Amino acid sequence: MTDAAAETTIKVVCRFRPLNSSEVARGDKYIPKFQGEDCVVIAGKPYYFDRVFQSNTTQVQFYNAVAQKIVRDVLEGYNGTIFAYGQTSSGKTHTMEGKLHDPDMMGIIPRIVQDIFNYIYSMDENLEFHIKVSYFEIYLDKIRDLLDVTKTNLSVHEDKNRVPYVKGCTERFVCSPQEVMDAIDEGKNNRHVAVTNMNEHSSRSHSIFLINIKQENTQTEQKLTGKLYLVDLAGSEKVGKTGAEGTVLDEAKMINKSLSSLGNVISALAEGSTYVPYRDSKMTRILQDSLGGNCRTTMVICCSPSSFNDAETRSTLLFGQRAKTIKNTVSLNVELTAEQWKKKWEKEKEKNKTLRNTVTWLETELNRWRKGETVPVEEQFDKEKAKAEVQDVDAAAANDKPAPTPSLGALPGVKLTDAEKQKYEAEMAKLYKEMDDKDDEINQQSQLVEELKEQMLDLEELLGSSRRDHATLQSELNRLLAENEASKEEVKEVLQALEELAVNYDQKSQEVEDKSKEFEALSEELNEKSSSLASIDSELQKLKEMTNHQKKRVTEMMSSLLKDLAEIGIAVGSNDIKQESSGVIDEEFTVARLYISKMKSEVKSMVRRSKQLESSQAESLTRLQEAESELTACQLRVSQQEAKIKSLTDGLQNVEQKKRQLQENVDLLNEEIVRIKAQEKVNAMEKENEIQSAHEVKEAVEKQIQSHREAYQKQISSLRDELDSKEKLVMELQDLNQQIVLEQERLKVEHEKLKAADQEKNRQLQELTVLQDRREQARQDLKGLEETVARELQTLHNLRRLFVNDLSRRVRKNAQDSEDSDDSSAQKQKISFLESNLEQLTKVHKQLVRDNADLRSEIPKVEKRLRAMVERVKALEAALKEAKESAARERKLYQQEMERIKDAAKPKPNMGRRNSAQIAKPIRPGQLPGSSPLFSLNRSNIIRGGGNDSS
Ligand code: ADP
Ligand code: MG
Repeated sequence: MTDAAAETTIKVVCRFRPLNSSEVARGDKYIPKFQGEDCVVIAGKPYYFDRVFQSNTTQVQFYNAVAQKIVRDVLEGYNGTIFAYGQTSSGKTHTMEGKLHDPDMMGIIPRIVQDIFNYIYSMDENLEFHIKVSYFEIYLDKIRDLLDVTKTNLSVHEDKNRVPYVKGCTERFVCSPQEVMDAIDEGKNNRHVAVTNMNEHSSRSHSIFLINIKQENTQTEQKLTGKLYLVDLAGSEKVGKTGAEGTVLDEAKMINKSLSSLGNVISALAEGSTYVPYRDSKMTRILQDSLGGNCRTTMVICCSPSSFNDAETRSTLLFGQRAKTIKNTVSLNVELTAEQWKKKWEKEKEKNKTLRNTVTWLETELNRWRKGETVPVEEQFDKEKAKAEVQDVDAAAANDKPAPTPSLGALPGVKLTDAEKQKYEAEMAKLYKEMDDKDDEINQQSQLVEELKEQMLDLEELLGSSRRDHATLQSELNRLLAENEASKEEVKEVLQALEELAVNYDQKSQEVEDKSKEFEALSEELNEKSSSLASIDSELQKLKEMTNHQKKRVTEMMSSLLKDLAEIGIAVGSNDIKQESSGVIDEEFTVARLYISKMKSEVKSMVRRSKQLESSQAESLTRLQEAESELTACQLRVSQQEAKIKSLTDGLQNVEQKKRQLQENVDLLNEEIVRIKAQEKVNAMEKENEIQSAHEVKEAVEKQIQSHREAYQKQISSLRDELDSKEKLVMELQDLNQQIVLEQERLKVEHEKLKAADQEKNRQLQELTVLQDRREQARQDLKGLEETVARELQTLHNLRRLFVNDLSRRVRKNAQDSEDSDDSSAQKQKISFLESNLEQLTKVHKQLVRDNADLRSEIPKVEKRLRAMVERVKALEAALKEAKESAARERKLYQQEMERIKDAAKPKPNMGRRNSAQIAKPIRPGQLPGSSPLFSLNRSNIIRGGGNDSS
């Protein structure tokens, strides 16, 4: 099947958006005036387009008027393109996309997608469709795949028909409108994610959505392809500025490179120039076919109605008008079947044959003319005849001509021979190929760069995380160090406390030892004292006896003395009478005096003795009193105990009595019972035997009773014996108890005494310690004193030497001037005074030396103590060292444990992060869900392709 190539112009429509709120707020004027359906007048100048849409045009209206037809074109095997051109915020995106999921506000793209599928569903059931979509943007002349963010700089290649395409671009196979919309959503999302300022980015980049539809008639094997480009261009205002100012920044140039080259391409095409600079930018290359090629192209010129944007709007309108003149040559994209190819080949063969016939015909005719022959008219070559022969073939052949491709041979003013042309074209092809290869390389490199960037980002993140880890570890370390310090401090404190404890312990043990010693001493003393008490008691007894004896003797002596005195009195009385016997009396007197003096001395000694005795008596009395008081206390207790015992024994006796009474009662009752029984028997017998042997029976009964009574009495007596023995036992026990109580009392008293002694000892100890302290103090003072004394001694020594020198000098002088010295006596006095001074000083010196010696003697003791202290300190140091070592060990263990925990905890987040970064949903053709319900509804089939196909 063939189709003639048809020339069409680009369709250009113009759409004005309404004034937006900020423009209204600013009070901008609404400048466009509309004339008919195809004219808009701005500032008096009319602009004509295929259609002009006013601000109130709805999305549906616009779509129906502009884009709907293109769906049919694409599905019939033509290429189609819709551009949206205009300044930023003029409504390009609104027109192309609108609100993608809002049925009223959605733009061209979603409506086209829906319509394509609807149309397919209504088509011949023998048709099989393969639909794939691509979505990419061009920013700074770099093609970025929006369906695969890793492809950031794709290159443009030409296929075998020299139609450019984006190489390596993701082509997603779709089989429902939903899948297409999903792809668009994904692409838009990727676009948003990749950039920081979306508004600026979208105003500077072109976004291109490509729908590629391939259909095959399963019966005729006819294959048609149609490509639909839906292009949302970058804001055109930059073009205006570029044009107006001429020079701008390089970046701005780059940003607008595609747009300015679009303008250039359109200008070239509009002027009919033979050279069109498609290769100036990637966008113009991709859209080469849409501009002056095999494509039905519609350009939507989007304009702002605001007076504020007046200039931009006018330049936009001019651009549209220029574009309107571009002519495209559209043809069906048919792939011939084998049958068609065969037919075509046969036709060509036939044509070839006729041509060869013609050639031979003409050659023979020419030869005949050259030979000088005249060829008759009917034999001459007839073009009409030949044409008639091959007319059918020609017509078919003409239709099969491929669309003309722009060739360099058409360059103006250049005349080239065929060979040169061929060479040149080959060269060009080679160069283009090289360029494409370079593009490829660039793409690869940029992808590498992207990868590296990503890796770098990963690494940076890793670095950041490890820094954070480091920081946390550092803080942890600091914390641990602080803890360590704190524990060290603690250990120190503990050690100090230990030391104190040890010291305390030593003191206490010392004290305990002392105490026990003291205790022993005390007990010994106590024993001694008690023994001495006993001895004193015995002595006292003796003394009492002695005093008695003495008293007796004294009385005896007194009586004898009195007697003697009486005798003496008598003798004295008789003295007057017997004067002569005075010599005898004198003798007697002397004797008596002797006696008296003797007696006096004896009395004196007696008195002393008695005094002694009295004092000892008083002592023993006090002792006795003490003992008595104790005794009374003991007696009191004993009487208490006795009273208790008495009450207890009374109670016991009461109980006993009661028991005895009860037993007696029982006896009586038993007797009664027996008697009653006997009475009964007797009665019965009396009744039976009529007093026959009543008497006998009575006797027997009485005997029985007697025996009973005896038995009872025996029992009772035995019981009483037992009771007595028990009582005795009780008494014994009571005695024992009393003894024990007494013993306890005694022990208590002893305990009290010991306590008192202990307290006394404590007090003494305290005193002793105080004394010790004082002594220590005194020793230190002494030491100081010793030093000062030594110093003073030294000075004294010096003084003495000086003094002696002086003295000797003076003596010598004196000796010289002995004669003329008047005041030698004064000097002598002085000398004696000094000498006495010297003596005193030497005394003091001696004293000090002695003191010094004393102190020296104390040195070894002190040294011994010092050594003990040093040893103690050493032991403590060793203990400290050990404790430190153990602390260090523990610290090490703790650190190891910490590290282990950290190691265990560390890899987890990293792994998690890496996993999450690496996970990417694999995107493969044919992954989407199976046939939708729409398939069964419609007769057409949509077959999902197996792989990427770019032709
Ligand atoms: P551009 O893509 O050209 O920068 P937008 O399509 O984003 O501009 O439009 C800018 C704003 O104007 C958007 O908020 C859009 O909704 C609004 N807008 C554009 N055209 C129309 C229209 N025809 N009717 C109503 N609102 C419109
Ligand atoms: Mg936009």
